[in-house]
Amino acid sequence: MGAGKLQAYVTHFERMAPNRTRGVRKNERGKGNQGMKVTKELALEAGRELAWFKCKETARRIIESNPGGSVGSWPGVFRKILAMLETLETGKPLEKPAFKVFAKGNSKLPFWSFSSMAILDCPGRGECSKWCYSLKSWRNPNALGRQLSNSLLLRHAAGRELIAREFAKLETETVRLYVDGDFHSKENLRWWMDLIRSRPSVAVYGYSKSWVEFLSLHLEGFTWPSNYLLNLSGGSRHPESMRVVMSGLPVTRGEFVAVQVDREHLANHSYQSRRNDGFKDYAKQVRANAGKRVFVCSGTCGDCLTVKGKNRHACGMESMRGVPIAIGMH
Ligand code: SF4
Repeated sequence: MGAGKLQAYVTHFERMAPNRTRGVRKNERGKGNQGMKVTKELALEAGRELAWFKCKETARRIIESNPGGSVGSWPGVFRKILAMLETLETGKPLEKPAFKVFAKGNSKLPFWSFSSMAILDCPGRGECSKWCYSLKSWRNPNALGRQLSNSLLLRHAAGRELIAREFAKLETETVRLYVDGDFHSKENLRWWMDLIRSRPSVAVYGYSKSWVEFLSLHLEGFTWPSNYLLNLSGGSRHPESMRVVMSGLPVTRGEFVAVQVDREHLANHSYQSRRNDGFKDYAKQVRANAGKRVFVCSGTCGDCLTVKGKNRHACGMESMRGVPIAIGMH
């Protein structure tokens, strides 16, 4: 793709403003002491209103469906979100977020991580929105609340200051940026990259389909931080030609693709660790279906690669630059 065509493509996407969605449906009003049932569509409606339109209508309806609902209920979660948002709107410093900003690691992802609201903050989403695993987590009001809270923090100066303070406090060598969600705008991407540059001892890595935002910033001559590595994930709305251009950015480690595998590999959990029985057979099929030389993701991020006797995470390793990584769809 030539520079002129690329610029036209970037400009086209930058001009696409988010569309206003329909109002909340009356028949979604729920009963019982948990308040109304919040479907994925309704959660997204509430998130879009709060993040894009400064409208609190749907969030208020959820709260009003049971104003005394417990802190873990849908009304309780939106009560916390609205209270935080009202403080953010004053412009005064925010002492505490509605939910923790960074999530502590677990056995599968043993690093601190940051997420925001999937779909709402995924400008590059395409086919992936049909199978997005983040949406499954929205069955849990607190999981949705954690994502939405960060989406709102990022859109306010006081919220970004709070994220920056939390980032500065992290005692870690590695951070995964965006488990759920993605860079929602070019300015959001610039802000993160500058923040990452401020802590050169922390290696940050992630996956993104916000390729318009990356290329737009790159075309400005932006200097990327050396401590961030990007994986180009599949399922985006963008053409192959754009993926090729993205592969050449200095921050791009390489591709991360999902390929079909037989159900037996999922049923026996062989895809979840390179130490599980059956992993070799699973890896063989992933390589065959990828149709090219790939490193096979074994699902446990702190232990998928051994470098100089140490267990490492392939997606965040400089030594894995240019190597496609493939995983079986599950
Ligand atoms: S390749 Fe390694 S670091 Fe990347 S997703 Fe798979 S397990 Fe995690």
